[in-house]
Amino acid sequence: MPADGQTLAPNVYDAEPIPEAARAEIDRLLASGDLFRYTAPEGAPVALLEQEFADLMGAKYALAVASCSAALFLSLKALDLPRGARVLIPAFTFAAVPSAVVHADCVPVLVEVGENYRVDMADFAAKLDGADAVMISHMRGHTSDMDAIMALCDARNIPVIEDAAHSLGTEWHGKKIGTIGKIGCFSFQSYKLVNAGEGGILITDDPEIAARCVIMSGAYESNWKKHPGMQNSYMLWQNKLPLYNMRMQNLSAAVIRPQLPLVATRVEKGRTGHDRVAATLNTSAHLTVPAALPPEERAPDSIQFNLCGDWSDAQALAFQAEAKKRGVAVQVFGLSDGNARAFWNWEFLGPQPDLPQTRAMLMRACDVRLPTRLTEAELDFIAAAIVAAAETVRGRIAA
Ligand SMILES: *Cc1c(COP(=O)(O)O)cnc(C)c1O
Repeated sequence: MPADGQTLAPNVYDAEPIPEAARAEIDRLLASGDLFRYTAPEGAPVALLEQEFADLMGAKYALAVASCSAALFLSLKALDLPRGARVLIPAFTFAAVPSAVVHADCVPVLVEVGENYRVDMADFAAKLDGADAVMISHMRGHTSDMDAIMALCDARNIPVIEDAAHSLGTEWHGKKIGTIGKIGCFSFQSYKLVNAGEGGILITDDPEIAARCVIMSGAYESNWKKHPGMQNSYMLWQNKLPLYNMRMQNLSAAVIRPQLPLVATRVEKGRTGHDRVAATLNTSAHLTVPAALPPEERAPDSIQFNLCGDWSDAQALAFQAEAKKRGVAVQVFGLSDGNARAFWNWEFLGPQPDLPQTRAMLMRACDVRLPTRLTEAELDFIAAAIVAAAETVRGRIAA
C-alpha cells in the first residue's frame, strides 16, 4: 500500500504461480533425465496426470498432449471425418479453433454468437443440416445452451467436441463441462486455470476414440500398452493411423499435477471475484455483464462485459485509454488490432460470409483478466476504474 492509502493498480498479467510441491519432482526428473513419457515402464508423471484428470472429471479416458489445439485436432482426426467435412464452430472463439479444423482437412462453418457471447441457436439450427461435426467453443468459459445443442446433434447423429480450454470447473446442470459432448478438450497454457506454460488434455468415454487419439498422438510401436483399458481397440488401430507426435513430456505433468487439487479453490475464488466485479459494473448505465444461462455454474478467471447504449468506436477506444490511465487493461475484442478472437482476422480461412450479429458484439464487448489470486481490494480497484473510465467518456448516469 502506498502512503496515501490507495491500492496500487493490481497486476493481472502474471499467470497462476506454480506450487512449491512441483519442485521436488522436477528436480528428480532433471537428475534422472527421465523426461519422455514412455521411458518408464509405469507410473510416468504424464500417465499419472491422465489418471488423476480422468478421475477429477469422472471420464473413462484422458490423453495428455502438447496443447489444447493439438487435442482439438486429434479429436477431429479420431472422428474419421471425410476430407472437406463441415464442422460448425462459434464465430466468437480463439483462432486456434478454426485452425484445428483446417489442420484436420475439414471446413469450418461459422455460427453467429449473441451479445451474451453464446451460440445463437437459430443460426446453429439453420446451419446444422449438412454438418458432419460440431465443435463448441465455450469461449472465456461462457457455456452455450448445451441442452439444445445436444438435442439437435443427437437427433442427427452429429458428434459434438467441446473446446473446454477455458472452462475447467464449469458445470451445466451440475455436469462438468467437457463431459457432455463425445470429447472434451482442455488447455494448460499459462492463461488458463492450470498453468503449465503449454499443454492440453482430452477426455472421452469412447474407447475407440481414445485409442485412435492415443496412437495418433505418438504412441508408436507398443507404447499404447502404457495406456490402460483399451487393449482390444489398440490392436485394431496399431499401424493403421498416422503418428502426429503431439505428446506431453514429464516436466509439464510435474507442473500440472500439484495444481489439480487447487482447481476447486481457484474455481470458487474466480467465481466470487468475477461476481463481485460484475455487481459493480452492472450499477453503471454504460456497462452490462450478460447473465449466465440458468443451468450454468461458471468458473471464470476473467470478465467480459458490453458497452451498452450507442457508443461510437472512438468512444469505445477512449474508454480503453481511460481505463489504461487508471491502471486497468481493457480490451474491446473487435477494436484491438489483429485480435485473434475476431473472426475477420482469420484470413487463412479465405472469404467468409459476414456475421453481423457476432461482429456487432465484438465491437462493444470488453475483456479484462481477473486472475483468481486477486484480493477483494484489488477486484474493487479494477471495478471502480472501469466504471470511472466509462463515466469519463459518457458522463455520469445511474443504471
Ligand atoms: C486457449 C484456448 C485455446 C487454445 O489452447 P492451447 O492450449 O493454447 O492450444 C482454444 N480455445 C479456447 C477457447 C482457448 O481459450
